[in-house]
Parts: sequence; structure tokens; C-alpha cells
Amino acid sequence: MTNPFQLLGISDDVVNAVKDLGFENPTPIQEQSIPVLLEGTNDFVGLAQTGTGKTAAFGLPLLELIDFKVNKPQALILCPTRELCLQIANDLKNFSKNIANAHVVAVYGGANIMQQLREIRQGVQIVVATPGRMLDIIGRKAIDFSNVKYVVLDEADEMLNMGFQDDINDILSTTPDDKKTWLFSATMPSEVRRIAKNYMDNPIELTMGTKNTGNVNIDHEYYIVRARDKYAALKRIVDFNPDIFGVVFCKTKLDTQDIAEHLIKDGYNADALHGDLSQQQRDKVMQRFRERNMQLLIATDVAARGIDVNNVTHVINYSLPDEIESYTHRSGRTGRAGKTGVSICIINSKELGKIRQLERIIGKQFTKAELPTGFDVCEKQLFSLVHKVHNVEVNNEQIDQYIPRIMDEFADLTKEEVIKRFASLEFNRFLDYYSKAPDLNAAVGDDRGERGERGERRGRGSEGYTRLFINLGSVDEFTRGDMLSFICNNGKIGGKSVGKIDLKGVFSFFEVEDAVADKVFEGFKSVEFNGRQVRIERSGEGGGERRGGGERRSGGFGGERRGSGGYRGGNGGGDRRSSGGSGRREGGSRDGGGFRDFSGRSREDKGGNGRREGGSGERRKKW
Ligand code: AMP
Repeated sequence: MTNPFQLLGISDDVVNAVKDLGFENPTPIQEQSIPVLLEGTNDFVGLAQTGTGKTAAFGLPLLELIDFKVNKPQALILCPTRELCLQIANDLKNFSKNIANAHVVAVYGGANIMQQLREIRQGVQIVVATPGRMLDIIGRKAIDFSNVKYVVLDEADEMLNMGFQDDINDILSTTPDDKKTWLFSATMPSEVRRIAKNYMDNPIELTMGTKNTGNVNIDHEYYIVRARDKYAALKRIVDFNPDIFGVVFCKTKLDTQDIAEHLIKDGYNADALHGDLSQQQRDKVMQRFRERNMQLLIATDVAARGIDVNNVTHVINYSLPDEIESYTHRSGRTGRAGKTGVSICIINSKELGKIRQLERIIGKQFTKAELPTGFDVCEKQLFSLVHKVHNVEVNNEQIDQYIPRIMDEFADLTKEEVIKRFASLEFNRFLDYYSKAPDLNAAVGDDRGERGERGERRGRGSEGYTRLFINLGSVDEFTRGDMLSFICNNGKIGGKSVGKIDLKGVFSFFEVEDAVADKVFEGFKSVEFNGRQVRIERSGEGGGERRGGGERRSGGFGGERRGSGGYRGGNGGGDRRSSGGSGRREGGSRDGGGFRDFSGRSREDKGGNGRREGGSGERRKKW
């Protein structure tokens, strides 16, 4: 039987390689794009979501069109992030593994440029690059693009959003005029339309799904809760989905850090991904997530760009994004490669209008979901456990030797009693925690008169005092006295200038006299505590004050669950610190982790902690 990729015009070597990857049938985007792109004679615009098989859609035709006997760059693929760059290069290497003399290089910031230059010198036909590092290399006159026949702009909307427009112009000006340009974008804002017009000649346009439409495999749900119950709602959603493998999106770096820290403390296997982490820290977090050693990745929009992990079951919008289009990118992290996924929004009733706007834009209805009751969670967890016990792989060779002793221990119990006890082992903890759990669902209008997500005291200190947030607290074994000396020593102020100290778990608030506030900021500029960057913010600026968390504060099953290796294989608190690093980008390379704006500063370098990451300027559509 002829292979369906062969029918599309792909040669045997490549067909065999994709077969090895388990690709049996082309995805819809591949089916539509491959025959068109194989012609090699047209510019092309493909409106497609991430996770739809886009890379093979342009990668397979490229491999057919390139002359691998010639060791010169013939195709250039530009993409917004280092992660995506590595992913595309890796995919292309896999697709071309049976082609003699095929060379693909990945060029991205935050990695050794010498190694990349060496690979280029040795001869490559396909260059996959992030714009900043590509320009560096062009500036060194280390690459010759005069033989480039195809340029692919992948995730064009994201590249523009990240301020790469000028870089792209500069890079493209070094490629021949008669090259063909293929542009892929998940959304089609007017700026992308403009580039299509400027860079392309009568492009063939293919739309997979409706414009700006979310992936059809994704269900969209929203939960209405009171602002103070958001964290508890998140936990309940997670507990109700014992096999969740999800990304939780927050607006600020501080929120990601804060929520990850609380989740870890409460026994969940989570970590934060945000722009204050060094590239190395980000890689580590991503590796753990990719290898499924972590269940929940708490991320900002910027940091999560280019996250390309299959089988993500849930995307949770802990806060709705500032820009409507970011929602499509967020939800596109799930429902990849034909799998189904759920995108959840935890909102307060005032945000209902935003949900309606999203429905109009992505052309899909959101389902109003009810947060499960404590009883529902217990039942779900119980049967998840029962299912796991039933399906666990038994290592007879190892366990057999203990069976006589185990049978002995249970000799006085009936089969039913043994089962009850095993089931109770985990069930009791959920039961304890959830037995008095409140109904978290809020009715529309319930937010009236609420303090607001962060509490009305936010930002207000006593008369004459400035209230500051610090990312250290009692879990760092600080007493109020310790905190006072820590503030005085680092802020270089006397104890009399310090007002109230409000010691919390992973953070605290303290007051200093208005007159010395700047001095304290200065003093804390580069202070570390246990290898973690200490952050100070004016309370009210960046998001220090906690959202709700009645359940969280009660401690719940956090402590207990951690030690006992419950469902989540909890990583205890050990890794928590790893997310607190403040590593900035490595110098030299222009795009570091791939985030840069017009000013030449890394986007992720912008704004203090807790601020929105990588604000995308005026061009993006706000609510
Ligand atoms: P992409 O949109 O290119 O990032 O692809 C998303 C995921 O789908 C990747 O893990 C690919 O390996 C996988 N994929 C792409 N094309 C196919 C196919 N035809 N059959 C099965 N999986 C595919």
C-alpha cells in the first residue's frame, strides 16, 4: 500500500524517516500545505495553530526542494524562541536522517556562539534561527545567504509581538530577492498581514480552521469564583483531575513564583517558569516538565512562548491575559498532535464580559463549569487510586519474597478489610481536607464589595511609612527579629525606621519610613539569601499581596502529603528554591533566551518582578 506521505509527493528517504517517528497519516495542515509548497514557486501564508504538525508541513517540502549536494545555506527558518528553534532543528534532523550530506544548524541566543559558527563553517543547507543571534552572526560576516531559496517565518505573530520586526527586515535584506517566503502564524493580526504584504508576492494563503480559531480539539471552560478563592479553586481543579499535566498561566513573574511556591508547599509537583530565571534554570524546569517529572508548570505568557510539550492535558488561566490574542497561544499548549485538551479560565464575575469577547474571537463557546464539591474531589481521588491499584504493574520477582510476611500481617483481616485499609490510606487525607470544604462557586455579582483580588489594604502603609513586600518569610526560618536585622543590615537603616513587620509564609511585608524607602531599595539591589535573589517591591506595585487562600492557609494536606509520596510523587520543598533564581540573560548574544524588544533590551529584562513580562506595546488588541 502506498504511504499517504508518498502520495503527497514526499520521497522514500523522508517517508521512511517520518514513519520511524510514528507519523502514519499527514495531519490536515500537512495534507493541504505539502503539495502547494512542493511546487517551490510561490510565497505562502499558512494560518495554523501550534501543535498541528506545522513543522513537517513546511519541513518535508523543504527537504525535497533543497540540493543537498551543495553545502551552502539554501533555507532559513526564523522563529521567536530558543525552545522552538531547537525543536524545529531537531525535527528537521529527524526528517532528514536518511538523506546523505544533510546539515541543519540551530542558531539561538544564550548558547555558545563559537560552536554555532563552527557548524556553519563546516557547511549547512538549513539554518533554523532566532532573529537576535542570527543578526549577530550576519554582523560577523560569518554566513552567506546568497544561495537562500526559501525563508520560513514561523510563529510570525509571536515574532512581531516580541519586537523582532526590525531584525527580520535586516536579516531578510541579506537574502536574495527571488527567494520564496513561507509565513506561518497562529493568528492574523494586521501587523502580520502587513508583513505578508511587504515581504511576499501574491502568496497562496491557507487557513486551517477559521481565522484566529482555537484548535478544535480544545474544550474551553470557565469557573466563576470570588477573587479570594482563586487559589483554592485552582487546587480543587487540580485535585479533581488526578492525572493532570498542565500549564497554569499567570500575568506576573511574582504570581508564578508565588503560586508555584504555595503549590509545592501544599504537596503538589509544580514549578515556576518566568523571565527572571537564567536560561539554565529555565532549561532545567522545562526538562522536568517535558520528562513529566513535574505535573504543573506555572508560567507567564512570555516564558511559555515556544513551549512545545505534547500531551498537556489542561491549560489553566489563573488570570486572563491582558491581550486577547494571548489566549489562543495559551490554550494552544494543549490539544496538540490530535490529542484533546481543556483550557480553563478561573475568573471573577466581573470578567464574564471577557469570556464573551473570547467566544466571539475564537468562534467557540465556553462552558460554564461548576467547581466540584469536596465530596466530588474525594470520590474522584478514591477511584483514581482504585484504578491505579488495579492497573499497577506487579514485579513478581521482587515482591514474591515478601508475600508470605505480608499475608501473615494481614492474616487477621478479611479481603474486604484489607481493601478498605489500602483505599483509606490516601482517601483519609482528602477526606480530612475536604470534609468541611466550602462551595467555591460564586454567582454573578458576587464580587461586589469584595476587597479585590489582592485586598484593599494593598499598597497602603501606616501614615508616613511605605509598605514593602519581600520574598522571604517564615518558611525561610525568619522570625520577626531576624527580619528586622535583615532589613536594617541590608537596607543600611536603623531599627527605628522600620515599622510593622508582617511575616507570612514565603513572603512578608514590612514598613519603612517614607524617607528611607529608596535607600532600602538601593541596599537590596543585589542581595541573595540561600542562593536566591531577594526581591523587594512596594506593596501594591507588583503583586505581592496574596490572593485568597483560605484553604491554603489552613495548611490542609500539604505537609502531610509531601512526606508520604502521595499521588503526586511530591518533590517536597527541595526544588523550590531553584525557581527563585534571578539569573539574567547571558551577555553578548542579542536575543539571549530569545526575548528582545526594539530597545535592544531583553523583553524579559524589563519591569521589576511581579510586573507583566514583555509587554507587547500598543499593537496588540487589549480587552
Ligand atoms: P508541530 O505542530 O510541528 O509542533 O507538531 C506537533 C506534534 O505533532 C509534534 O510532536 C510532531 O512530532 C507531531 N506530528 C506532526 N505531524 C504528525 C503526523 N503526521 N502524525 C503524527 N504526529 C505528528
